Amino acid sequence: MSRTPFRQTSLAYIGLGSNLEQPRQQVASALDELDALPLSRVSSASRLYSSRPVGPQDQPDFVNAVAALETQLSPLALLDQLQALEQRHRRRRERHWGPRTLDLDVLLFNTTPVDHPRLQVPHPYMHERAFVLRPLLEIAPHLSLQGLPLEQWLAKLSDKVAPLA
Ligand code: AMP
Repeated sequence: MSRTPFRQTSLAYIGLGSNLEQPRQQVASALDELDALPLSRVSSASRLYSSRPVGPQDQPDFVNAVAALETQLSPLALLDQLQALEQRHRRRRERHWGPRTLDLDVLLFNTTPVDHPRLQVPHPYMHERAFVLRPLLEIAPHLSLQGLPLEQWLAKLSDKVAPLA
């Protein structure tokens, strides 16, 4: 008798951002595509937020969101899927911190840190970015980073993000 192998379900938080080619639609359809990834489903998603770009300012504002993803993929298999999804959105990246059609980041993967040449989790810059913390706080108000509640990390930041109407 063959048995389906047992796979543990993990909870990952994914940051989404876009500032090119109809960013709202890019993020909205990426949320649907995340839900359709193998062995994965989106259990909650934030509203869409608007933020000023980090780095070069001569580019459009970003649309951002965060999704909670229940997944049976490993962290690296999830990264492969996210990078393939970025490519399907014809991601263009001409310069560092420049405009992009879709950016997907693994923010957290359970409470497990990952330190791999391709993947650092928690995402190394997440506590410095209001466009990550604000939508994350909306769907996971209980979370702390390095022992400090998300709300307190957010209070340290001066950049403002606003939910889109
Ligand atoms: P970015 O320009 O922010 O999209 O960075 C993409 C690169 O960051 C890729 O080469 C990934 O392998 C690497 N990377 C490291 N940690 C992460 C993470 N937590 N989420 C997404 N990409 C990551």
